[in-house]
Amino acid sequence: MNEDGRRYFPISQFYRQRFGEKVYKVSVSIAETCPNRQENSRMPLCIFCDEWGSAAYHLERDRPLAEQIIINRDKIARRYRAKSFLVYFQSYTNTFDRVSELEQRFNIALQQDNIKGIVLGTRPDCLPNRVLPLLKQTHEQHYVMLELGLQSFFDHHLEFLQRGHDVQRGYDAIHKLHEHTGVDIGIHLMFGLPGETDEELIKTAEILNSLPINNVKLHNLHVLSNTPLALQYQLGKFKPVELEEYIHKVTLFLEYLSPDIAVQRLAAVASRWDELIAPAWTREKMRPTQAIEDHLKEQDIWQGKALV
Ligand code: SF4
Repeated sequence: MNEDGRRYFPISQFYRQRFGEKVYKVSVSIAETCPNRQENSRMPLCIFCDEWGSAAYHLERDRPLAEQIIINRDKIARRYRAKSFLVYFQSYTNTFDRVSELEQRFNIALQQDNIKGIVLGTRPDCLPNRVLPLLKQTHEQHYVMLELGLQSFFDHHLEFLQRGHDVQRGYDAIHKLHEHTGVDIGIHLMFGLPGETDEELIKTAEILNSLPINNVKLHNLHVLSNTPLALQYQLGKFKPVELEEYIHKVTLFLEYLSPDIAVQRLAAVASRWDELIAPAWTREKMRPTQAIEDHLKEQDIWQGKALV
């Protein structure tokens, strides 16, 4: 059990250790595309991705960056009496644009009041060498974290998800970031993939334990409208996991995950509820997390228990 009385290491505690205070992420929607979506791309779309590319506030993407930061920061400040923030470039692939544009965005973000750093969402196969010096320089003066959408450490699952990259690209990206920039690294994973086994979940935790990463964000694969997965669902070719099964998967994974790796999220949260087709429990923002926490307690399991 950690100092918060939790059975896993939540990202809030990681931030408190890092910054000495509570820090909140302010999501912005700036990047407009990704390698799969660009014009003339021969790659299919990721099977789960809707047209907004994981943006939390897709309707704001026409506003200038500074305005998005101010509006969303002030909203969070009012709701949580928050004082410190990280700007989270969330939608699409944020290292896909020109480095000069990225640098300009960093500068705008870091000039805003009470911004402690930057979190950048991207794909593992979209980290050209030319972007590394900017990440390194920025990280020398401010906090920088890269969130890599790896989704799985198994090639057959990546193929099903139509990611357009293999697992090796994930390893390469992590090592490249670690060796050449020193930024913190977060990994996005999806559970509830067809044919996923307990052994794969344990192996995933073991792989993460061996890599220079700081945190992990878990999602259950869910069906949004207007995605390739929606079609498979309608044809009866994909069945989302039930909550009980998902709880088992996350619990097993946490049991084998090093207690030094922070957990950003235990389950997906649908930003656009009207687009969610299945499973219905993904609509309930707090229930999956609470159910996982309750299960950990009932079973007397904690993060890293199997490693003791
Ligand atoms: S998940 Fe990311 S990389 Fe895949 S299609 Fe959507 S925006 Fe592009």
